[in-house]
Amino acid sequence: MVGLSCFACMRARRTSVLWLPSPFRNPWLCKSRRRSTKSWMRPRLKHRDDPAEVKPAEASRGTKRSDGQSWEAYLLAPPKWPRFAMTAPMKTAFRERMARPRLQETRDSRQDRSDSRDSRDSTDRLHPRAAFHPPKAAFRAPEPIPPIPRDDSRDSRDSNDSRDSREDWYGWLQWSGHKGADASWHRSKDSATAWQRPGKSSAGGETTWALKELAEVRKKLVATEEALCQEKSLRANLQEKQDVEEKQVQKLQASWQEQQEQLALLKDAEASWRQQQCLADEKLKQLQAQLNDENVRRIHAEEQLEKLRPLTSSVNHGAFWQYELDGCWHAFTPEGSEQMHRAYVEYLADGQKCCTATIVAGGVARLVDFRRMTQQHTITKKVRNIRIRMGVPAQWESSPAVLLTQSDNLESCYVEVKDRPMLEWIRVILVKTGHFRDWSSPCFCMQKAEVKSVHRIENFRLWHRYQTRLAAMREDHTKYNVSVQHADLELDFSIHSGVMTFSQSYLNCGETMASDVQEKILLHGTSWENADAIVMDGFDHRTCARGMYGDGVYFAGAACKCHQYTCQTHSGKACSCKHERTLIIARVALGDAFHASQTRKGERRPPKRDGATGTHGSVVVNPGRIHGHHNPNQIHQEFVIFDREQAYPAFVVQYVL
Ligand SMILES: [Zn+2]
Ligand SMILES: [Zn+2]
Repeated sequence: MVGLSCFACMRARRTSVLWLPSPFRNPWLCKSRRRSTKSWMRPRLKHRDDPAEVKPAEASRGTKRSDGQSWEAYLLAPPKWPRFAMTAPMKTAFRERMARPRLQETRDSRQDRSDSRDSRDSTDRLHPRAAFHPPKAAFRAPEPIPPIPRDDSRDSRDSNDSRDSREDWYGWLQWSGHKGADASWHRSKDSATAWQRPGKSSAGGETTWALKELAEVRKKLVATEEALCQEKSLRANLQEKQDVEEKQVQKLQASWQEQQEQLALLKDAEASWRQQQCLADEKLKQLQAQLNDENVRRIHAEEQLEKLRPLTSSVNHGAFWQYELDGCWHAFTPEGSEQMHRAYVEYLADGQKCCTATIVAGGVARLVDFRRMTQQHTITKKVRNIRIRMGVPAQWESSPAVLLTQSDNLESCYVEVKDRPMLEWIRVILVKTGHFRDWSSPCFCMQKAEVKSVHRIENFRLWHRYQTRLAAMREDHTKYNVSVQHADLELDFSIHSGVMTFSQSYLNCGETMASDVQEKILLHGTSWENADAIVMDGFDHRTCARGMYGDGVYFAGAACKCHQYTCQTHSGKACSCKHERTLIIARVALGDAFHASQTRKGERRPPKRDGATGTHGSVVVNPGRIHGHHNPNQIHQEFVIFDREQAYPAFVVQYVL
């Protein structure tokens, strides 16, 4: 042992000099400091075991540790090695112990101990001094002597109550064993000298007693008789009342029976009334059914009239007149409508000077005012509104007056379309139909197409002709029982763009495409000069070049095919000349189309139907192998019609490349 001290606490080390230093155990520290790594590098702290560091005051008090920390905090702190850890029960006990001050605790605990001993003595065991102090006999307070009741009824000897009560009281005293009972009884007996018991009195006393009793009995008898009389009178009254009530009950019963009879009568009446009501309801139903039948017949007749109108009314050109009745519009008879129409056309031709006309239809004369659009019954003077329906597509903007007077006026047939979405859509038709994806094809030049103008064609005469033709086709179909099979559009390229499919509904001008005659929106390319002729008089296959599938009017579903016929110098080729081109978007009624598998050069009408009489409505050529074609394959889909009235030019589009 050499006089070396610990680096941390400066105490003499108890290690041997021969003890070798190691990186884990520092030999220059004392045993306690050596265990914490590098603790010797900290500044020197108070050593807890150093008695010199403990202040005497704190040490004597014992509440704080030498390092200033309270014992409680020290012991409850989480354990640090090597100090032992307190278990949970130890902690609980320690907390309880620390919660109470020491002096108070001792006094209380002593008191508790003595209390518990006393309670045990009083209950279980004898008191240790019980032998010297035996328990005294229980002290009982003497019962109080009941007072003698005051005898206030001493003078009234008739009353038995006081006597009985006195005897009872005496008997009670004797029974309860009271010593002074006899004496008090005799005392009270002596004081009551005037009073004597009835059985022990003298003879004279007995007679007076009997007389008194008799008088009393008589009095009672009289009272009883009076009571009896009263009872009898009461009984008589009650009897009378009972009689009256019985009579009332009888009356009530009689009235109740009457009411029952009346009720039965009313029920009968109700039943008969219900039967009548049922009958009336049935009649009403029958009448309503008849009315419905009549209405159905009327509607059917009107429908037939509507169908027949385009055929019959050649003068009207499909226009018809209506009058207003009770908020609904009703059609004139064909005769009246025709007269109205003639008068109206005259009025328009006259320059709208004479606005009134007299119409006689169905034996009734009416005065018509075309300026106010009213008619007046000449006899009843009743005025009704009238109107003219042209039967043209809903989107047409021209008024009936314009449509009826356009005759040879070409300009009135052109109505420019300024609707931006529609112009954009027509550009899409030019650019996105046919072979727009095939850059190697000459059709690819359509990518440069620009729309210059679009005009809607509102030619009333042409429209009427077209509708008449549709009606004739329908008649033909019903006559030969022809079923229409719809041709697919957009077969020009393997991928459908869907443009023409959407155009079927978008470009119909508000007039739904007739599916029974397979009406379709198709494209027709032509020159600018030829377009005017088509707008004025419709398509004419006689002016067209002769095609491979007959001498008809050719339509296509792709703009690139139509583009081949828009240049007069390069007909049949997709050229890129910069002049203005014309594309006609037409409504075409294909009817029952014939699908061609070979060329039909020189044919002037569609082929005959199989089995049935009549010819097909049109010829459809789908892309693919065609027998007799100079190319082995047909490139574009084509539609050929051989009746000029089977197509109506809906729009005229001008475009440039
Ligand atoms: Zn093409
Ligand atoms: Zn050209």
